[in-house]
Amino acid sequence: MRHVSLPVSLRANPSESAPLLVSGTVAYDDILTPTDSGEHLLGGSASYAALAASHFTTVRIASIVGADFAAADRERFLAREIDTAALQTDTSGDTFFWRGRYHDNFNTRDTLETRLGVNAHPRAPLPAGHETTPYVLLANDAPAIQLDLLAQMRSPRLVAADSMNLWIETDLARLRHVISKIHLFIVNDSEAAQLTGERNPVRAGHALLSFGARAAIVKKGEHGTLLFHPDGLFALPAFPVTELRDSTGAGDSFAGALAASLAVMQREDFDAIKTAMLYATATASLSIEAFSCNKLEAASTTAEIEARSAFLREMTRLPSVRSSF
Ligand code: AMP
Repeated sequence: MRHVSLPVSLRANPSESAPLLVSGTVAYDDILTPTDSGEHLLGGSASYAALAASHFTTVRIASIVGADFAAADRERFLAREIDTAALQTDTSGDTFFWRGRYHDNFNTRDTLETRLGVNAHPRAPLPAGHETTPYVLLANDAPAIQLDLLAQMRSPRLVAADSMNLWIETDLARLRHVISKIHLFIVNDSEAAQLTGERNPVRAGHALLSFGARAAIVKKGEHGTLLFHPDGLFALPAFPVTELRDSTGAGDSFAGALAASLAVMQREDFDAIKTAMLYATATASLSIEAFSCNKLEAASTTAEIEARSAFLREMTRLPSVRSSF
């Protein structure tokens, strides 16, 4: 079992990190950035999230792939000790495919094509034992699939979920149902605006809580993240990245590392989520420095996550000054 060394006060029992189940898409992506391009790259919300989470705790991935899915790509999960027993293969179709093009600033992108492939096919139930996994991340996927997965889980301690514009546009009612059933909802600012009708991210965050999630995180790309929680509001800047190559999967890496950090801490309170956001921000910053999931697969990334988390902690620390000056 792997874990990063969380701050001393949070490391009560690091050897007892809880496992995390990550569901979502496993995909092949074609990516166009302002400077580069790549085809048939391993992608998908569950791939990024599970690989990111594997630097923190034991991970089980739940998804479906098609006849075209390469054995070598399954090996990439196994190499990170990710349990693939719930990564089903359906040879009657192809793996989920996504093609996206980034704009000049990398902050915005267009989806050029989405082919659901076998992702739209019926699934077998989770393998025995998976349903008691205490921490669950419903990474970006069709809300019906997220609900089906959630219905199989037995009293999970924490369920976090992410979504995307396609599902807001095509299945809003089910997505609202997902949000009403979970502890932590994670979306980017444009999707939060689309979902709530509020263009201001603070108003949108509060509106998401009124949808029934216990807490919500609104991601603002290079401008960091906002946490909305019954105990208060928290803002964290992004890690100052200079070598941006492909921002695909930034949100999924963030969500995977966030849920996994909570599984390490085995806490879900306001302070724990703030700390998890620090590790998640550090992990996402590494993910976008390489195409596909490449950076998340390297063993050396664990130490880099630790170093970046420490840097971010220091960068956001305010000196205490006299109250009057
Ligand atoms: P992100 O950049 O964090 O939004 O994640 C991008 C990844 O999500 C890509 O690897 C895609 O394969 C995958 N993806 C794209 N569209 C969808 C969708 N509608 N549902 C689930 N996953 C998707």
